[in-house]
Amino acid sequence: MKSCGVSLATAAAAAAAAAFGDEEKKMAAGKASGESEETSPSLTAEEREALGGLDSRLFGFVRFHEDGVRTKALLGKAVRCYESLILKAEGKVESDFFCQLGHFNLLLEDYSKALSAYQRYYSLQSDYWKNAAFLYGLGLVYFHYNAFQWAIKAFQEVLYVDPSFCRAKEIHLRLGLMFKVNTDYESSLKHFQLALIDCNPCTLSSAEIQFHIAHLYETQRKYHSAKEAYEQLLQTENLSSQVKATVLQQLGWMHHTVDLLGDKATKESYAIQYLQKSLEADPNSGQSWYFLGRCYSSIGKVQDAFISYRQSIDKSEASADTWCSIGVLYQQQNQPMDALQAYICAVQLDHGHAAAWMDLGTLYESCNQPQDAIKCYLNATRSKSCSNTSALAARIKYLQAQLCNLPQGSLQNKTKLLPSIEEAWSLPIPAELTSRQGAMNTAQQACKPHHPNTEPVLGLSQTPISQQPLPLHMIPSSQVDDLSSPAKRKRTSSPTKSTSDNWSGGHGMSHPPIQQQAHSWCLTPQKLQHLEQLRANRNNLNPAQKLMLEQLESQFVLMQQHQMRQTGIAQVRPPGIPNGPTADSSLPTNSVCGQQPQLALTRMPSVSQPGVRCPGQPLANGPFSTGHVPCSTSRTLGSTDTILIGNNHVTGSGSNGNVPYLQRNALTLPHNRTNLTSSAEEPWKNQLSNSTQDFFQCLNKCTADLFPFLFLRNLGKNGLSNSSILLDKCPPPRPPSSPYPPLPKDKLNPPTPSIYLENKRDAFFPPLHQFCTNPNNPVTVIRGLAGALKLDLGLFSTKTLVEANNEHVVEVRTQLLQPADENWDPTGTKKIWHCESNRSHTTIAKYAQYQASSFQESLREENEKRSHHKDHSDSESTSSDNSGRRRKGPFKTIKFGTNIDLSDDKKWKLQLHELTKLPAFVRVVSAGNLLSHVGHTILGMNTVQLYMKVPGSRTPGHQENNNFCSVNINIGPGDCEWFVVPEGYWGVLNDFCEKNNLNFLMGSWWPNLEDLYEANVPVYRFIQRPGDLVWINAGTVHWVQAIGWCNNIAWNVGPLTACQYKLAVERYEWNKLQSVKSIVPMVHLSWNMARNIKVSDPKLFEMIKYCLLRTLKQCQTLREALIAAGKEIIWHGRAKEEPAHYCSICEVEVFDLLFVTNESNSRKTYIVHCQDCARKTSGNLENFVVLEQYKMEDLMQVYDQFTLAPPLPSASS
Ligand SMILES: [Zn+2]
Repeated sequence: MKSCGVSLATAAAAAAAAAFGDEEKKMAAGKASGESEETSPSLTAEEREALGGLDSRLFGFVRFHEDGVRTKALLGKAVRCYESLILKAEGKVESDFFCQLGHFNLLLEDYSKALSAYQRYYSLQSDYWKNAAFLYGLGLVYFHYNAFQWAIKAFQEVLYVDPSFCRAKEIHLRLGLMFKVNTDYESSLKHFQLALIDCNPCTLSSAEIQFHIAHLYETQRKYHSAKEAYEQLLQTENLSSQVKATVLQQLGWMHHTVDLLGDKATKESYAIQYLQKSLEADPNSGQSWYFLGRCYSSIGKVQDAFISYRQSIDKSEASADTWCSIGVLYQQQNQPMDALQAYICAVQLDHGHAAAWMDLGTLYESCNQPQDAIKCYLNATRSKSCSNTSALAARIKYLQAQLCNLPQGSLQNKTKLLPSIEEAWSLPIPAELTSRQGAMNTAQQACKPHHPNTEPVLGLSQTPISQQPLPLHMIPSSQVDDLSSPAKRKRTSSPTKSTSDNWSGGHGMSHPPIQQQAHSWCLTPQKLQHLEQLRANRNNLNPAQKLMLEQLESQFVLMQQHQMRQTGIAQVRPPGIPNGPTADSSLPTNSVCGQQPQLALTRMPSVSQPGVRCPGQPLANGPFSTGHVPCSTSRTLGSTDTILIGNNHVTGSGSNGNVPYLQRNALTLPHNRTNLTSSAEEPWKNQLSNSTQDFFQCLNKCTADLFPFLFLRNLGKNGLSNSSILLDKCPPPRPPSSPYPPLPKDKLNPPTPSIYLENKRDAFFPPLHQFCTNPNNPVTVIRGLAGALKLDLGLFSTKTLVEANNEHVVEVRTQLLQPADENWDPTGTKKIWHCESNRSHTTIAKYAQYQASSFQESLREENEKRSHHKDHSDSESTSSDNSGRRRKGPFKTIKFGTNIDLSDDKKWKLQLHELTKLPAFVRVVSAGNLLSHVGHTILGMNTVQLYMKVPGSRTPGHQENNNFCSVNINIGPGDCEWFVVPEGYWGVLNDFCEKNNLNFLMGSWWPNLEDLYEANVPVYRFIQRPGDLVWINAGTVHWVQAIGWCNNIAWNVGPLTACQYKLAVERYEWNKLQSVKSIVPMVHLSWNMARNIKVSDPKLFEMIKYCLLRTLKQCQTLREALIAAGKEIIWHGRAKEEPAHYCSICEVEVFDLLFVTNESNSRKTYIVHCQDCARKTSGNLENFVVLEQYKMEDLMQVYDQFTLAPPLPSASS
């Protein structure tokens, strides 16, 4: 059962060995003709055998592998060997060769070569998806390059094709991290939890995973949950000091910043205690010292604050935030000159430090130097991290106005308290501020107290400050992204001259990191620049400068070495979980906020601030730059995609065509590159570079034709015998690509299929049913249904509902009242897909009150407007032109009462009875409704739900659960507006969601109609009036908003058609891949259908039969395997109306054989696991009992008796 075997790798190695047999002869011949031995190494039999066991699954574990060094040497040799072999064969080798080569390069952490090789394999091996180790390796490479959308896909596919994959834990961990970065917190949490229950080895400890979960809560501002989780973590036995220090630091900073956690005095005292404890666990954390300083400062302990800041600077790379805070402290102490210098330090370290510029401006203002203040404020407004641009702009205007009113020269003559900004910029930084005890290895650096302003650091007095590295020290702990942030790379000579390129290149992050994880190998760009200068003037240096050069040189070597063995994950264990406050915690003096705590995975975080990509980061140049979903972007482009992709990633140099990500290294280590150049000599490498294109092309190709993957196979009759097809893996499902050819633009607003009913006979006319379920009609509006059937809609009016059950629970969605069909961000600056919709609960009575008062209020406003309009009817018309350009928002908040459960037929007897008047095909319960065959209640699907609305209430975009059809009746009195996109375009919408970092299945999104128009997606749009029934066909994507005040009722139905069944099963599989629960248990339902229904549609019959066969075979195989392993299977049977079962861990449907923990079995709580989850928590299943719900004979009998029924006489004739 376990997939950790290496059968595939062994097979590949065997293939390689066979090929090498031949090849060795050729090599021998080559040698004779003068070829050197290094270029044609060969592998011994033992080496080949050893290599057979090495693939991507060993990634992160090589060092733990017996004799890691020898393994690495072997891998290196194997790579040379394979490359030379492939070269000789001109690339014409078995595809497995490339896969192996990919694995070897991956294990050697040569990601670009690994990617090239994997891509080649991908293009050669059409059923690549069966190879979980390949998909896993590919996922790891994407992960390394921060290509998260791609990594997510690859990892999800691994788990789909092999749920028991031996690195499932590692995958869940990484999925958790990536979803966290993508701000899909629900998915993130789910995957972290899945990682946590798995007791297999993984590159992070349980404590570290728990830390990420706690931090996830913090990121979501769930502070109490976060606090609880952190505190619980501290109880862990044998907690590593690194984790402990980080947890305490988070707790400390959270107490300092979050108001929710108590009154100020208590909070601060806790904060200080936590930070002190954190420093006990890790005394060298500059970050903790900095936070401690901030806490002391906020309670007025100036001396302690200053000492802490100094410690912080001693322990870590100077950070702009620390200097800014020191400045604030000085300013508070009325030491303007010291404050000035501290602020200058801050802005020299980070040009885009809005807070420091602002504070500096304030300082100048307080010293009566408005001209300098203006310059500083201007710089602050240019920063992207500036949060109050408008206030600043007003202040600047005010100061400028004041200046104009002053007599000429009056300012110049005044004695200035502070040097001007230009002067200050070129002042040397006082050593007292910059020196760091103990930071240098050398005696010379022993720090003497220097008088500020006079003695420059290390005697480099002739060097302008702009070229000086600020604090000089040997163990820099600069930010990872120093290397990629142009703002930090470049230091201009004057702050006031700093033009747009400094600013625009600055921190694109809204939360500039306070300070990031220390990397002892990292040289800041300033230092690199300085090193260059010193090198250039090697012969004219004074002793101090020589020393400096030496130090920088040695550090540079260290950095190189480090980068050469640069890790993806865990090969070199990163120094634990680094520190940092959350992105949400804000600092009092300024807009600077914390950062994502560095994940223990070195690659992840610095570049992965949600939605932010700094220029110069690897993705900007790679094929992933066209938005984050290159696959889907190109997919929508149809036949032109090759060109696009070509242009995109073969950037200029050509040699990099297949290694598009090396830019990152190129920045600092140009010579450290393995350039795959000179294509003439290396044809196979040249092919590799082309294969990138094939790769993407291929990805595009294999989307459409995979569906319906389940049903294309030939089924043997009663194929229960040993048909091995059945155990074949299914290819992972993919969303469909955009239908081709694209619709012309004038077809993008099709008329909505509508039927007008006049009387009851119309409603029961059979073709109506056929019309609605026709796959060509994504939606049908049945107009006037309530009237035709004389339905009493008053039963669902707010008044009646309150009378019937006023205390009934209402789920509330708090939303922003958006303009008509648009969706803006809360500030009204840009249209977005994310649709804010926060959940809470209330009662029918309370919501009714809200609904009524909202109506009253609107009447009042309407009246006011009318009288206002009368007064100003002339001026009004001229201003309407501007309205389009005006900023939208701020938006009013509204509440939408949703998902009100009307399943209880005692509470809602009259209402539910009224609905039995409907024609059968739209009824909640009917023989022809698949959902009536599930055998148990699925709330909101085979029961009725009610919605209570005020204008603007929005149901965000979605498809129904498992693509079932839905029925919706508007009760009135107001109207609703609907937007509908046919099922075939769901892949396009899924892509848009991905691009917008939204979860298509679980997220809350409101499509931008302009985006859809651009992408040639047709949108049906119509108004649903009171009494109209909307039929949403299987799989149709839709979103709805209320125009007026109204209630709606809705439920799902499943017509007995091949189309409905197929789409339901496809979504069932897609949900599995996405780790989303399928609300409709399709396996359970299929067996019930086989028992209860006669199916005459051959296509539908075949699909059901296949599903039965497959599950039957799975049950049989699993049963046999368990028995063979000596595991007892306990007969349990089924109770009447017993719901289908789902795994309590991963939420997949569990059919027939339930894995229940011994404990829950004896308590008769029966908490069900699937086999894979059971094995993850208990490898040999010793903690589990296996309960059986059906007899095999029974299932076989049902299967055999399920036959194609003769066609029914046509109903319409
Ligand atoms: Zn499970």
